Amino acid sequence: MKAILIIGCSALALLFALVPRAHAATEAQVFPTSAGPVKITPIYHASTLIEAGGKTIYIDPAKPAKLSGLPKADLILITHIHPDHMDPELIKEISKADTEILAPPTVVQTVTSAKPMSNGETKTWQGWTIEAVPAYNLKRGPAAGQLFHPKGRDNGYVLSYGGKRFYFSADTEGIPEMRALKNIDVAFVCMNLPYTMPPEEAAEAVKAFHPKIVIPYHYRGSDLSVFKKGLEGTGIEVRLLEWYPK
Ligand code: ZN
Ligand code: ZN
Repeated sequence: MKAILIIGCSALALLFALVPRAHAATEAQVFPTSAGPVKITPIYHASTLIEAGGKTIYIDPAKPAKLSGLPKADLILITHIHPDHMDPELIKEISKADTEILAPPTVVQTVTSAKPMSNGETKTWQGWTIEAVPAYNLKRGPAAGQLFHPKGRDNGYVLSYGGKRFYFSADTEGIPEMRALKNIDVAFVCMNLPYTMPPEEAAEAVKAFHPKIVIPYHYRGSDLSVFKKGLEGTGIEVRLLEWYPK
């Protein structure tokens, strides 16, 4: 009986070891910069963890992202009010006394501890430069004459650290402001219908601003092979990561 129990437990332990961890630690990407490495870990959908210089930044921490076992936030950036991006409960869970939160004014109405930041504003924080950039729909919305993400409400972010520039698109279509981005080293770009854009449109927009590396995120239900094919021969490296761990 005891032997069976021991074998049973070992099998269970082995099973747990094989199951991918909720925050997909193995998918973490490390980018060298002149100020030291920047480690970026995909957590779930749009929820992202950034670690650099001993500081921890989260972008859009939201359920069902599992944050247990991950470090508390020094800074949290929120892109917009939709529940897959703004989750007051999870923000509370990863916050400590001195956590700073930056978000568009419509988010600050709910997350009242956040400082407002609008399109076109720039802030500096712990060696980072944070630019809020536009993210909006050109044509897609819940009904005629409406957009899922109206212009001016939501923020994408360009984060610079140690000479490297990281772009997080938030929920957007291939807007002119994205196409006009300059010197992006690593771009995190959304694609999913009906809310943002299909992979072929995302590839077109990425081609226009030509980051060194592009990482699709917020891509639930999209065919990433279409995106990858759309960028073949451009010299842009497409890195596919798992943003939907089981
Ligand atoms: Zn949205
Ligand atoms: Zn979204």
